[in-house]
Amino acid sequence: MISMIEQGPIRPPSEAGSLLIRLTRNCPWNLCAFCPTYKGKKFSFRQVAEIKRDIDSFKEIERELINLSNELGCGGRIDGKVAGAAYGRYGFLYYHVGSWLASGGRNVFLQDADSLIMKTADLLEVLGHLRAAFPSVDRITTYARSRTVMKKSGGELAELVRAGIRRVHTGVESGSDEVLAFIKKGARGDDHILAGRMLKEAGVSVCQYVILGMGGKRWAEEHPLQTARVINDVDPDFVRFRTLAVKEDSTLAGMVDKGDFAPLSEDEIVREERVLIENLHGIKTRLVSDHILNLLEEVEGRLPEDKEKMLGSIDRYLALPERDRLIFRLGRRGGVYRFLDDLSRRDTRARLEMALDQILSEGTLDDAIDEMRRQYI
Ligand code: SF4
Repeated sequence: MISMIEQGPIRPPSEAGSLLIRLTRNCPWNLCAFCPTYKGKKFSFRQVAEIKRDIDSFKEIERELINLSNELGCGGRIDGKVAGAAYGRYGFLYYHVGSWLASGGRNVFLQDADSLIMKTADLLEVLGHLRAAFPSVDRITTYARSRTVMKKSGGELAELVRAGIRRVHTGVESGSDEVLAFIKKGARGDDHILAGRMLKEAGVSVCQYVILGMGGKRWAEEHPLQTARVINDVDPDFVRFRTLAVKEDSTLAGMVDKGDFAPLSEDEIVREERVLIENLHGIKTRLVSDHILNLLEEVEGRLPEDKEKMLGSIDRYLALPERDRLIFRLGRRGGVYRFLDDLSRRDTRARLEMALDQILSEGTLDDAIDEMRRQYI
């Protein structure tokens, strides 16, 4: 009998194929003004024994999937067919484990928001149990706050690497101390630098998240420049762009209502993105725009070789006639465009022209787009 397995609400998009194991519940900080993910939810540690029971249950699911595979004539092999059949018979969790095993069972993501906050000894015990149960696991990743990373010693981080931790995802959001204080990030730019460097020194792949538009109008100049400073000083393996969308249930929404924060327009955010990229120097980071809220998905590539290409994409968008920019924004937010080249698709264009005229006759595109963006957050 499988005991109840607990999983948290989120993971990075790049960990879509990873097995999700919940080490702690919710976020120990839970104060960032833009983030409602864990609002009203109390942080708690899970007992090591409880987490190990979850791992044992995943193992039990693997055994049941092997039985199902034999029953289906697949010779005990767990592949996409077995995972699909498991979904129909046992539900999503079996599908999750089945598709993970079908793809090699290598990647595991530790939830929730700040797994490194666990005592290192407890974390090592869990990781040891996991790798004994699933020897195929060779890449374990997690979210961690910079301040939490800073509390670990270099020796502890090295031990975690030996135990399988390969990548840490950290929300930097901005490099500006003023912005970070305003959004209550609980870290300064230099903390992000120190934590990023400590992880790199320990041999961990570092993925830092930056929120385009996070400085609003007040810090529109400072935010991209200071963020570039932090990225230049860390040289992380990845920077993932996210674009600010003020979520209704966030503290930031109240700040907007009171007039304390004025968000940038989409075009202003694109200009800010240009300043940020232009000011990245001497690093080998890969920039990734893998989120639907980023207007220009094609602004992706490795530095330094793709820098001009990325700036070129931004310039191409900014040089479009205003009507084309509106059409592109509408197409992107409506989910029918991904790249600037999509503007030349005549069938879609005709429909977007009609939709745009309708929207403009009733109000503004910004209001309509705000409504569409809310569907993505
Ligand atoms: S640390 Fe992360 S999860 Fe926690 S409140 Fe901030 S953004 Fe949200």
